[in-house]
Amino acid sequence: MSVTLIPTYFCNMRCKYCYRSETGFDKKIMSDDTLEKVFRMVIPEYSKVQFLWHGGEPLIVGLDFYKKAISLQKQYATINNTEVRNNVQTNCTLVTPEFAKFLHENNFGCGTSFDGRNHDYLRGNKDDFLKGYRELLSHGMSVGAISVVSGVNVDRLIETYESFKEEGIQNLQLNPLVEEGFAKKNEVLKLDIKKYTEKMIDFFEYWISDKDGISVEPFFSNIRTIKENKDTSCSNTSCHGKWMCVDPSGELELCNMCYEDSFYYGNIHNFSTIDEVFNSDGFKKMLVYSKCQGEKCIGSCELYKYCQGGRINGELRNRKTDDGVSFTCYINKKLLGHIIRKVNDFYYAMDDHMDLNPFFKQAMGLTK
Ligand code: SF4
Ligand code: SF4
Repeated sequence: MSVTLIPTYFCNMRCKYCYRSETGFDKKIMSDDTLEKVFRMVIPEYSKVQFLWHGGEPLIVGLDFYKKAISLQKQYATINNTEVRNNVQTNCTLVTPEFAKFLHENNFGCGTSFDGRNHDYLRGNKDDFLKGYRELLSHGMSVGAISVVSGVNVDRLIETYESFKEEGIQNLQLNPLVEEGFAKKNEVLKLDIKKYTEKMIDFFEYWISDKDGISVEPFFSNIRTIKENKDTSCSNTSCHGKWMCVDPSGELELCNMCYEDSFYYGNIHNFSTIDEVFNSDGFKKMLVYSKCQGEKCIGSCELYKYCQGGRINGELRNRKTDDGVSFTCYINKKLLGHIIRKVNDFYYAMDDHMDLNPFFKQAMGLTK
């Protein structure tokens, strides 16, 4: 079971593409009651639970908040011997030596956002980011980074990737711009999805051959999905009943991607058990939508076994190309289609293994 916890929507930054700006960067902080209710209701029900702390900027609620959270988690984990893990997605600017030590000692996974040479323009505070990021590294943490692909950098993906390598980042995730919040108002960020897909294919070819390369998503997960024939990422699997998001007021939804209100499950304080949550009207509505979404593709699309009808939030946002194809579907048909052909053709060129990106080889199952 995975639970995204949003302790606050407040944030000390104002990134040009922030899709969260529509929440007004509200300063409300999750109450002790809500925090405890989540842990009490979720942890004893599962053998493994991972919590993803998100925001706003999750570290803005302070170290004492997390000390309290970890202490509560331990209390509820002992009931049924649940294995609990935590991950935090932070902008890194508030990481102090004490915070880094705490996160390391409590085995947090850590992700951040970084935009390489465009960081100051798009997000600001690059020096503060690097200070916090290096503090985490100095405590032995490995930190993955998300970078948003927008009109600003779509022509320079390789350059962006190389700047990540320069900073020692080992794990990069490229996400296409979500046109919500600030991003909607900023013309220069607008992303042509056809161009995005072409450039990602070019970059994929570069990435494969980069023998000093780092791991890049969605490539790594896409290859594993194809090779292992199993769902490996949220874009090609069903997360219903396995994922839940709690906002600072205790409102529950599938994930933190700004769904419309009718898909909300309700407030955690109105439920007694997790089963009740997964029987709520909002949950059922989301499930039916998702099922119908998948069914229209069964039998009509050869990519179905990998794509399964596309990422539900992409569909719900309902952004379409001029030909009326949803962005998710367009990206999957072109980019995932290209990766499938590449993975399948690869067996005809086995001699080339040694000079390839080590993460490509790992995803292909050629190395450990
Ligand atoms: S993108 Fe993240 S770090 Fe930037 S303003 Fe939004 S919540 Fe804050
Ligand atoms: S690529 Fe498009 S048509 Fe094919 S399964 Fe995915 S969403 Fe459906």
